[in-house]
Amino acid sequence: MLKIYNTLTRKIEVFKPQNPPLVTIYTCGPTVYDHAHIGHWFNYVRMDLLIRALRANQYKPKWVINITDVGHLTSDQDEGEDKIQKKANNEHKSAWQIARYYEKEFLSSWKELNILDPSLIVRATEHINDQIELILKLQKKGFTYKIENDGIYYDTSKFKDYSKFARLDIDQQQPGKRVEFNPLKRNPSDFSLWKFSPKDQHRDMEWDSPFGKGFPGWHIECSAMSMKYLGDTLDFHTGGIDHIPIHHTNEIAQSQAITKKPLANYWMHSNHVTINNQKISKSLGNGITLDQLTKLAYDPMEIRLHILESHYQNQSKFSLDSLDSAKRRYQDLRAMSVLRYQLKNNHQSFNFKNIIRQLKSYLLDNLNTPKVLAYLSQVTDQILESAISKNQEHEFNWFLSELDQLLGLKLTTIPDIDDNLKKLLNERQRARQLKDFSKSDKIREQLKENKIIIEDRANGYLWRWE
Ligand SMILES: [Zn+2]
Repeated sequence: MLKIYNTLTRKIEVFKPQNPPLVTIYTCGPTVYDHAHIGHWFNYVRMDLLIRALRANQYKPKWVINITDVGHLTSDQDEGEDKIQKKANNEHKSAWQIARYYEKEFLSSWKELNILDPSLIVRATEHINDQIELILKLQKKGFTYKIENDGIYYDTSKFKDYSKFARLDIDQQQPGKRVEFNPLKRNPSDFSLWKFSPKDQHRDMEWDSPFGKGFPGWHIECSAMSMKYLGDTLDFHTGGIDHIPIHHTNEIAQSQAITKKPLANYWMHSNHVTINNQKISKSLGNGITLDQLTKLAYDPMEIRLHILESHYQNQSKFSLDSLDSAKRRYQDLRAMSVLRYQLKNNHQSFNFKNIIRQLKSYLLDNLNTPKVLAYLSQVTDQILESAISKNQEHEFNWFLSELDQLLGLKLTTIPDIDDNLKKLLNERQRARQLKDFSKSDKIREQLKENKIIIEDRANGYLWRWE
């Protein structure tokens, strides 16, 4: 049984899929005009955890994520310039080059963080006709109007429940401050479905349509692609919390105006991440990237572990100090993992089935990853204290692979040491038995140079990777 906080009802609910074991999930993906920053990765790792929790509950997730490679303007409310075209102009490249470059980078960081492969990754530019068809349907139902030399807009006053999802106070809603408000819109919250190509500027991405040459607005792609691949009503729609008042509200307005059915039964949102008490954002220039962090010698798994340390509903703080503590935590997990290469003749016995059951129950309880990790640390300490008995080899390997399924921390990939180093370990042990401590200390140093740390115990020793 999976419990999850549903933004739709603002309550923690027991999840019930429409057609079990299938579970459909749509996640709003990146706008590929710049590097993804650590705030984005908090979001996607948390979505990955949702998929892992669903799997742990015997469901079969079908997970679709989109790539916004056209149509996202400077403000989410469709004012300003096209982010991708703007970047292309600045760098003397085409919008297509920019979009493909950052998409590739995004997907490679995705892999590095061991986020599960989605069932489908879909690009907005490859679904232009699907988007045009939806706009035509909205037009037919009377939800649209045209602004000359600008585009086709959605009239939000025609959609009765427009403010319901975000609990918006429409009267309080102010036009965007950063960029000039378009006075030709009927309501400040109206948004573009189709933008006409500007007459005085070159655009790399544009298409013919029944409305005129141009490109789709940002929000319509998600309605079109989620409907196409996952049907009228999703089990889950997920994304960052900042999508609630505009992007997700607009997706609901578009989809539900056509289908008259809920766009999703459950909405999961990942809360903001802050650095020095500021929200991470491109405009603030504090968006550290995965690449920058790996250059500072952080392993992507340490970063992933750090993300799991906070709950998705809470605002989390990112700092290198907290990343360092995740690093130490990951060291312990790696030390636990290599115990499978150094089984002992002891009689200590762990109930690994129970431990996994307990970890799953915390994960399924509204993705309580802080609790998962607190319990796992306790267990890790006990295991490191007593090591693993030869009798439990099979169970221990099972435990590690279950842990990897559940948390994606790649513990089963931590390698054994090679034969030369094993020889050194034996030599050191012999030297110690002969009380030749200067030799054993020398070998310890040699091992340290190879990033191996030895811990002597009453009945032998254990090694771990540094
Ligand atoms: Zn979306």
